[in-house]
Amino acid sequence: MKPDCRIIRREDPGFRQAVTGTLFNKRPLDRWPAMICYPRTVADVRDLVLYAKSLEKKISICSGGHSWSANHVRDDAVLIDLSNFNEYAIDAAKMTATAGPAVGGSVLMTELFKRELFFPAGHCRGVCLGGYLLQGGFAWNGPKLGLACESVIGIDVVTADGEYLHCDERENADLFWAARGAGPGFFGVVVRFHLKLYRRPKYYGMIGQVFRLKHLEEVYRWAYEIGPRVPRAVEFQMLMTPRTLKFLAPGIEVAAPIFAESKAELDEARAFLDESPIRHKAFFRTPFVRMGMKTLYRFAMSHYPAGHCWNVDNMWTSAPVDELIEFHREIAAALPPAPSHVLWLNWQPPVRRTEMSFSVEDRIYISLYAGWKAAADTARYGSWATDLLKKYAHLGSGIQLADENLNNRPARFLAAENLRKLDEIRQTRDSAGRFHEWHGRPPIED
Ligand SMILES: Cc1cc2nc3c(=O)[nH]c(=O)nc-3n(C[C@H](O)[C@H](O)[C@H](O)COP(=O)(O)OP(=O)(O)OC[C@H]3O[C@@H](n4cnc5c(N)ncnc54)[C@H](O)[C@@H]3O)c2cc1C
Repeated sequence: MKPDCRIIRREDPGFRQAVTGTLFNKRPLDRWPAMICYPRTVADVRDLVLYAKSLEKKISICSGGHSWSANHVRDDAVLIDLSNFNEYAIDAAKMTATAGPAVGGSVLMTELFKRELFFPAGHCRGVCLGGYLLQGGFAWNGPKLGLACESVIGIDVVTADGEYLHCDERENADLFWAARGAGPGFFGVVVRFHLKLYRRPKYYGMIGQVFRLKHLEEVYRWAYEIGPRVPRAVEFQMLMTPRTLKFLAPGIEVAAPIFAESKAELDEARAFLDESPIRHKAFFRTPFVRMGMKTLYRFAMSHYPAGHCWNVDNMWTSAPVDELIEFHREIAAALPPAPSHVLWLNWQPPVRRTEMSFSVEDRIYISLYAGWKAAADTARYGSWATDLLKKYAHLGSGIQLADENLNNRPARFLAAENLRKLDEIRQTRDSAGRFHEWHGRPPIED
């Protein structure tokens, strides 16, 4: 049986451009699928799954192509490109929405904002709901609303047998549990998400301070100490960058988006920075500035310009502060040029009440992003993040799948019991292993 949708095969003209065109990370590839397929309907997806089975080939899936590790590009796979599944519908009365996996989080957010609604979408334009929601989803207003996948109330999936299923807490609950945390290891094609919406917060914007690198130790020590007390209305993060404010010297940008329901909550939220004991050392400080999503996205995107090659790796940690400072000193000593940067996200996980596969998080999240354009720089920066994370792996308790680098450095991304349970569900739902799993995984610890 031959599917009806457009397919470009390895031997066809334009094949390599079609595959590389799916990717945000422009790093040259050394693996190629057998074909790239563009379904338009659920029936097309089902046909493609059965077609892959008839060819005895594995399947990989792409929604927005923002996987740093190009997870969907696998040798000899049937690559299903879901870019046509880009429609959404908002039901303001029910405070719900449905969205295809290729809907950009920022696209949905912009529309919701106009209607005074909100969904915890990611921080950058281009990232699509497909990959973002499956791995967890670290969102605008995330400390308060939780992981974005906790606001997924159902999914529609085509399984390895070509069945089309609705999954939620009651129906096909095993798949629903798996889909909230499995990330690039999910074994089905999600063709629609059902989402819970929120009211748009009354106050939104950002407050910031910028420090020179000579204050590195004081800044990270302060951030470590204050972290647990920062109110949940704040997304407290710091970026070490070789070009602060896009054109100044290397330093640390402390950026705190705030989403508050009242003036009192806003004042309480901003106080940790307004009254910080190191604020006088900052060479640049802003008051709280009200910003719409357009400006917030512009700020976030300034660190992730298009058209670059990237090497990205990360860790969750609650290691002692002295060891984290030593780690950051070494990072600062060899920080590649912009847009490379290093994120410190104050996470402080809440008590989770959601039954889901997502299970690894910690007090602080650190992620290293090396970005470059010239081919000659690949030898210099191509494993910068990987090498540093290998050296300092003992400080970490696991990794986020959002910024995974599992093909270069397998590391713990789910709790052992969750990974075991996920493997069991995969065994029942995809016994032939039709779907590619993560492209690297550590052994399950006991
Ligand atoms: C510039 C940039 C900014 C980012 N910002 C954030 C952020 O603020 N918060 C955050 O949490 N993450 C962030 N990320 C990480 C991002 O969420 C993940 O890379 C996510 O996987 C991207 O989703 P995608 O659909 O665009 O990517 P894809 O590369 O298409 O998807 C990644 C993988 O997910 C699986 N997958 C995707 N769609 C489906 C589907 N429909 N059915 C089954 N499996 C599927 C596939 O295995 C695929 O290889 C960012 C990444 C980039 C590059």
